[in-house]
Amino acid sequence: MKRSNLKKSIFLFILCVFGLQTLAQPRVERVEPPFWWVGMNEPALQLMVYGENIANAKVMFDYEHIDLVGVKKTDNPNYWFINLFVSPNAEPGTYKLIFQQDGQSLEYDYEFKERRPGSKERNGFDASDVIYLLMPDRFANGDPSNDNMPGMLEKADRSNPDGRHGGDLAGIEQNLPYLKDLGATALWINPMLESNMPDYSYHGYAITDFYKLDPRYGSNVDYVKFVEDCHKEDIKVIMDMVFNHCASEHWWMKDMPAEDWIHHYPDFVQTNFRTGTVIDPHASEYDRKKTTDGWFVKTMPDLNQDNEFLATYLIQNSIWWIEYANLDGIRMDTYPYADKEFMAEWMKRINYEYPNFNVVGESWVEPVGMVAWWQEGSNVKNRYYSNLRTLFDFPMYYTLGRAFNEENGWSEGIARLYETLSQDFLYYDPNSLVIFADNHDTDRFFSKIGEDKDDYKIAMAFLMTTRGIPLIYYGTEIGMTGFEHEGHGMIREDFPGGWPEDTISAFTGGDRTGLQNDMHAYLQNLMNWRKSNEVVQHGKLTHFIPEDGTYVYFRHNEQGCVMVILNNSDEDQNLDTVKYQECMKDYDSGREIIRGNKIKDLDEIMVPAKAAMIIELSKE
Ligand code: CA
Repeated sequence: MKRSNLKKSIFLFILCVFGLQTLAQPRVERVEPPFWWVGMNEPALQLMVYGENIANAKVMFDYEHIDLVGVKKTDNPNYWFINLFVSPNAEPGTYKLIFQQDGQSLEYDYEFKERRPGSKERNGFDASDVIYLLMPDRFANGDPSNDNMPGMLEKADRSNPDGRHGGDLAGIEQNLPYLKDLGATALWINPMLESNMPDYSYHGYAITDFYKLDPRYGSNVDYVKFVEDCHKEDIKVIMDMVFNHCASEHWWMKDMPAEDWIHHYPDFVQTNFRTGTVIDPHASEYDRKKTTDGWFVKTMPDLNQDNEFLATYLIQNSIWWIEYANLDGIRMDTYPYADKEFMAEWMKRINYEYPNFNVVGESWVEPVGMVAWWQEGSNVKNRYYSNLRTLFDFPMYYTLGRAFNEENGWSEGIARLYETLSQDFLYYDPNSLVIFADNHDTDRFFSKIGEDKDDYKIAMAFLMTTRGIPLIYYGTEIGMTGFEHEGHGMIREDFPGGWPEDTISAFTGGDRTGLQNDMHAYLQNLMNWRKSNEVVQHGKLTHFIPEDGTYVYFRHNEQGCVMVILNNSDEDQNLDTVKYQECMKDYDSGREIIRGNKIKDLDEIMVPAKAAMIIELSKE
């Protein structure tokens, strides 16, 4: 080849490669949220568009009632953030989002759906509910064909306590009758969004796609149908969400939407897990920043909610799931670890869109004040409006763990329940707290109390009758055991009978042991009674100083009065009721809920050793 020809060839080659690249048709890999609705309270919508060099394209939106009010780019040209304004006149439909570059254009169909009737007015969960918490990988495997799915890195291995066991949506769905019979009125299911991690993915808290259900549980469409089926059984669904972090294998980690999308990226700086620093008036800035900006663990990079695009992305993501799946509640993970101003703004947006919805935040600390601080309306905080109504009652969780592991005393044993509740003045609304004896991160309660059936019964009677929203962790109703220090897999074992190969099923009475049946029947009775008793759900709590290891309290309002006696001592107690007259004076008889018998004389009540009595008072 002649030298000049060679030069010409090289020139043409360069022209081809670079010319083609600049003249390439715009490409779009993702638009999120994947669709939206007309008629939302908030007219603004921001789309995140991902595609190679997409931010070099001109953007148009082809519908007169939805205005494109602006486009914004970050330091990464592969992302466009498109701001739309959806006018109240906008009709549902699919409209064209047009990208133009170098005379070439791409039309992307974007759908605005019609909202569900009554969507805005939806009611969240509250003290009329009993929540059942279950881990979807560990509850029931209704569809073994989805245990391993193409593209999903971790394969099922039921012999590995930390592996995936194959539980799924179909498994929960098949056992809805069991949950309904038990008396559950709401399900909190640990995260079900895609967690495509190479190992330890079953717990779901390392999310790799915020808009997609993990295919090993089912599809997005399956999830929507599941919620619909739960609603038919009068069971609410609370979705577990995580805004503090994503997974190290999240798709955007390979091409970060902005330099400041993740705190400390690409380094690994771990949080100090001391969430008190967020509200401690003496906390150093160093400690506080480490709490909120450090990564949870190496596989969970810390999201920077200070980035305005990420903040909008997360807010819209939660609203998208509420609207799309018709949710009744959200459980928000690691609440104080995220930016607190962002969390308050998020809650404001949720409340604006769905005023009767509810969210429960996880602030895992023992002191009452440090939980109360986060509740909207609380007087203990200074100029911070959280807009958050419900928190987990971790102080009461710790109290329950201690109360049944020591002798009764002035402030020990059963008196601990009284002492902790007496600090309720710190809360704006103690009846909105979620109360629990164990959850997916803690020792199994039955193990913690030395597998003592009597303690279990007293504790469950307390959970079902004191103020707040009771939560039962799956398997607690059959006395499943496990200590957290033995590994998380041990406190998240498979529910017996949930797998086709299981030889014994705890879903049915015939296979349960005598002890399991006893515990199950006890809790089932209380949960079903509580479901229809408005007084125990919402009535005022009045309690009396425990004496002789016996704690007496009442739930009462205009509709009635429920008397609860928890005898945690080893002696039968013959209770003289004179001192309880301020609560009992209008009543002369009652029905005992645990044993089902009538009580004709309220002057003296005989309470057996190590037992609870719940008496619905009445007047003959
Ligand atoms: Ca499965």
